[in-house]
Amino acid sequence: MTDIHIHTHFSSDSDESIERYLLAARADGDKTIGFSDHCDLDLMLDGQGGATLDVDGFFRETDDASEKFGDVKILKGAELGYSRKAEPYYVDMLRKYPFDYAIMSVHSVSGRGDCYYPAFFDGLDKRSAYELYLNAVLESVTSAVDFQVLGHLGYVARYAPYADKRLYCGEHASLIDKILEAVIERGAAIELNTRTGAEDRDVITPFDILARYVELGGRRFSFGSDSHKVEHYRTNADAVKSTLRRLGIGHTVRFENRVPVNEYL
Ligand SMILES: [Zn+2]
Ligand SMILES: [Zn+2]
Repeated sequence: MTDIHIHTHFSSDSDESIERYLLAARADGDKTIGFSDHCDLDLMLDGQGGATLDVDGFFRETDDASEKFGDVKILKGAELGYSRKAEPYYVDMLRKYPFDYAIMSVHSVSGRGDCYYPAFFDGLDKRSAYELYLNAVLESVTSAVDFQVLGHLGYVARYAPYADKRLYCGEHASLIDKILEAVIERGAAIELNTRTGAEDRDVITPFDILARYVELGGRRFSFGSDSHKVEHYRTNADAVKSTLRRLGIGHTVRFENRVPVNEYL
């Protein structure tokens, strides 16, 4: 089960080296690893900070590392922060560069900034905040961007200020169905992201949403620790396996040249 959501010093919020991850992967006996640094054109174009990805530097450094660590295959990904304005740039970037995969993530919605910050929720009740987020996710999964993985579905709840911040599938049923159907139609994967921000949760996406995806015919799940330092590489991998077993799914997928490869548990 390859961890394909990993940040390195090519992300503005990480200073971890590619080499240290590869040493950890080698120590664990892992044969593949996937780096997916941030490209935050959503935030940048809205004047909310963020940074673009130094794609040439990223390819240069991962190519060098591939030569040095021949026993661990490096998959080259990117985590794209979605917004309508950023969409044409991402379409272009994925045409131009041979990324193995792209993770489509919604962090910032309607120019309100990242849902990581309390200001995002100012003046919004839970239902409105979550619908704003889910509508942006729907826009992202029906966009022209050639992505392979829907990143951390349910991210809005991670830092939400509400007493019961859990995102319930039933409260947004038709919107969530539209998102899941679009993901299935494109052949993309739902990510099992283990950076939850909550002690009582193994993966960020609520189980009832994952179960609904399977019910609708979805079978592709990817594993992502979303680690920003090597200590978090493969965090909670066992919990991902038990979640998959509860769902009756016996494999995850990684992507090579944007083609899914099954990895059986
Ligand atoms: Zn993210
Ligand atoms: Zn991430």
